[in-house]
Amino acid sequence: MKISILVFGSKNFLATLPDQILDATAFSIEVIMDVNQAVSHMQITPPDVILVQASLDGSMELCRWLKDQTQLSWIYCILLEDRPQQLAARNQHGWEWELEMTANALRQGSDAYIWQLPEAKTDRSFTSMMANHGLLLAQLTVGIRKAQKYRDLLRTNDVLSAIALADSLTDMNNRRALEWELPRQIKKARTQGTALSLIILDVDYFKQVNDTYGHLVGDRLLQLLCSRLRHNLRFQDTPFRYGGEEFVVILANTNGEEALLVAERLNRVVSEEPFTINSKLTINITISLGAACLQEQDDDNGFNLLHRADQYLLQAKATGRNRSVGRDYFPSVSHLRAVSS
Ligand code: GH3
Ligand code: MG
Ligand code: MG
Repeated sequence: MKISILVFGSKNFLATLPDQILDATAFSIEVIMDVNQAVSHMQITPPDVILVQASLDGSMELCRWLKDQTQLSWIYCILLEDRPQQLAARNQHGWEWELEMTANALRQGSDAYIWQLPEAKTDRSFTSMMANHGLLLAQLTVGIRKAQKYRDLLRTNDVLSAIALADSLTDMNNRRALEWELPRQIKKARTQGTALSLIILDVDYFKQVNDTYGHLVGDRLLQLLCSRLRHNLRFQDTPFRYGGEEFVVILANTNGEEALLVAERLNRVVSEEPFTINSKLTINITISLGAACLQEQDDDNGFNLLHRADQYLLQAKATGRNRSVGRDYFPSVSHLRAVSS
C-alpha cells in the first residue's frame, strides 16, 4: 500500500517541498487548502502523515483538532513554518526564538516543527535548503514508521477482537459479544422507537446425548445445531452462544408476538429433521425457547429482558419441553422510555 500524505497548503507551497515527496510511485498525495475539507478528508480517508503550511488560515486549529481526535490523533502532523514575520523574527532573535517557537508548535498539536526556508538564491542558501529538506524527509520517515506501526496494531486488534467475541466450537458470537451488543441494540431501539425482542433457547436433555454417544458427538451436534439456527434466522436476528447448550437470539425490529412466531419456527426446524452426525448416525433433538420483548421499565443493559426470557424458558421446560413460551406485548411507541444521553 502506498504511503498517503495530506498536504494542507497551497500549490506554491507544494512546489517548495523536496522532490522525493512528490514522487507519485512512493506516495499518494492529496493537496487541500480549505480547513473544513481537510477535516472531512481525514475523517473519511485518514492519511499516514499530514504536512501543514503554517501561513494558511486554520493551520494551528487543524493541528489542535487532529490531536483531540481519539481515532485520528495517531496521524503524524508536520507543521512547516513559512510565515514571513516568524522567519524574520528568527533571523533577528536567533536560536532561543527558534526553540520557543518549536515548543509552542509541539504544544499546539504538531508532532514536528520545521522551518520552511525561502527559495535558495545562493550556494550557501542552497546548502541550507538541502539540509532543511533532509530534516523534513527524516521527519517524514518517523511519521511513516509510526503510522505503519499503528495500522499493524489496528489489524492485530481486529483479529484479537474477533477471537475474543467468537465461540471457538461453533464460531458463533459468544456471551461476551452478547454483553457488548445487547445494550447497543436496546439503546438503538429506544432512540428510534422500534421494538426489540430476545429469545433464549436450550437443548432438551442434551446431557443424554453426551452420555449416550460421547462428548465429541455432542460437540458435533452443537455445531450442526448452530448452523441450522443461523440458516433459519432473518437478517435482523443475531444469534449468540450463551453457554453450554444455550443460545440467545436478539431480534431487532421485532415485537413480542413476532418473536414468539420466530421461536416457534426455530422449535419446528430443530425437531422436524434429525441431525446427521455421520453416515451411520443421525440424532433427533428438541429445544425449548423463551421469547421476551423490551418493555419501558426494563434496564438499559438488558438484564431484565434476559431474565424475563429466561423465566419463559423455564416455563417451557417445566410444562413439557420442546415448546416456546412468551407473553410479552410490544408497548406503544409513546410508552417507550427516552434514552438518557
Ligand atoms: P434440560 O432439558 O433440562 O436442559 O436437560 P439437559 O440435559 O440439556 O441439561 P443439563 O444442564 O443437565 O445438561 C447440559 C449438558 O450440556 C451438560 C454438559 O456436559 C453439556 N454441554 C455443555 N456444553 C457442552 C459442549 O460444549 N460440548 C458438549 N459435548 N456438551 C456440552
Ligand atoms: Mg439443556
Ligand atoms: Mg442448559
